[in-house]
Amino acid sequence: MQATFALDPDAPPLTQAASLALALLRAAKIRTWAELVVDPAPLAAVSVTPEQMALLNTHAGALTTLRVGPPMVTLAVCPECSRFTIVSGQAATSCPLTLGCTGKPQRASTAARLKAAPTAKDAPVETVDAAGRARSGDPHIHQS
Ligand SMILES: [Zn+2]
Repeated sequence: MQATFALDPDAPPLTQAASLALALLRAAKIRTWAELVVDPAPLAAVSVTPEQMALLNTHAGALTTLRVGPPMVTLAVCPECSRFTIVSGQAATSCPLTLGCTGKPQRASTAARLKAAPTAKDAPVETVDAAGRARSGDPHIHQS
């Protein structure tokens, strides 16, 4: 079953991209974004919307520093000046990037995994039922 992820639409785009990237790394059990770029096959197990994919592509350069860890290496993005720092602990409480900037950098945390929709959950069950019926029907055909 494919996993999907929820992003905070109010966070800076780069924060959203980093959150999603960390969630994808966890889902794919890969430690760094750079490794995933080399071999994206594990991503087949997750579901990324076209908007989320565009977000990842737009910020691909910054995402190469991400690491699931431990220690986790993520980004803190200033919502005022849009610059970011690479952090492995807590983000700075005030913007260290632009002199006089009043922004408070937002640390990207791993995006939450969404629960599968009921319809997506029902579909595989029906498939199993159909396969079971087909298999139990086969012996009768061969016997007669
Ligand atoms: Zn700033």
